Amino acid sequence: MGRERQERLYRVDAIVLKRKEIGEADRLLTCFTRDQGKMTLIAKGIRKPASRKAGHLELFTHSRCLVARARTWDIITQAEAVNVYLPLREDLIRTSYAYYCAELLDRLTEEQDEQQEMFDLFLETMERLCQAAELRIPTRYYELRLLDLAGFRPELFNCLACGEEIQPTTNYFHYAGGGILCERCGVEVVGSRRVSLPALKILRYIQTRPYSALKALQLRENVHAEVEDILYHYMTYMLEQNLKSARFLRLLREQIRGMGEPADAERPAIGAT
Ligand SMILES: [Zn+2]
Repeated sequence: MGRERQERLYRVDAIVLKRKEIGEADRLLTCFTRDQGKMTLIAKGIRKPASRKAGHLELFTHSRCLVARARTWDIITQAEAVNVYLPLREDLIRTSYAYYCAELLDRLTEEQDEQQEMFDLFLETMERLCQAAELRIPTRYYELRLLDLAGFRPELFNCLACGEEIQPTTNYFHYAGGGILCERCGVEVVGSRRVSLPALKILRYIQTRPYSALKALQLRENVHAEVEDILYHYMTYMLEQNLKSARFLRLLREQIRGMGEPADAERPAIGAT
């Protein structure tokens, strides 16, 4: 019995993306794990007042878990929080951004598809959302890195249609094609939208620089809005076959907007290449 029990158990390093109450006192958790990618695990009895697991399996909490194999959902038998990212719980705007990031990760991945870099990216992003004064830059960085890791890296340097190098003028973004069309090709393609030069520069800058290089980035409000809009629509386009998730992202985005952005006066846009 003892040995059999040992073999049925395994450890995971996990972060809780989503949770759902089931049964009398249980919770079904969508977790992203370091070694096994996304998994659905069950935490039994977690809603009982005396549960020792409760504080360790909150949303966005990074925990070390001991899990028992089971027929339907594997069962979390023990959990110990590594980081609870407290500011994400205490500040509603930070909470909304974390929800948005978790939702994207959930929608862009399949179960049991190991993605260690995504796991690390998500943890780093939660840390940044706890600390940063301006939450939009870490979120845009997260979106572009996540797109890379999920295999949807947008082409920002050469025209999707003619292959020519993109010139410093107003170009077009084509969602279905996944990138930029030059001034000449873009006008003729249905479903492409204009991209201003500052917005394209910022997209390229974020796509090709480490996060440490972005800390000093200060954008005009209209550039912030344009970059956010392009990435949001690109992701919505990719998730379109799953209309529910696209709608969910839209609701989250409206919620974030409704709460307002941190005060940010007009500042000169930095010149990025
Ligand atoms: Zn072209």
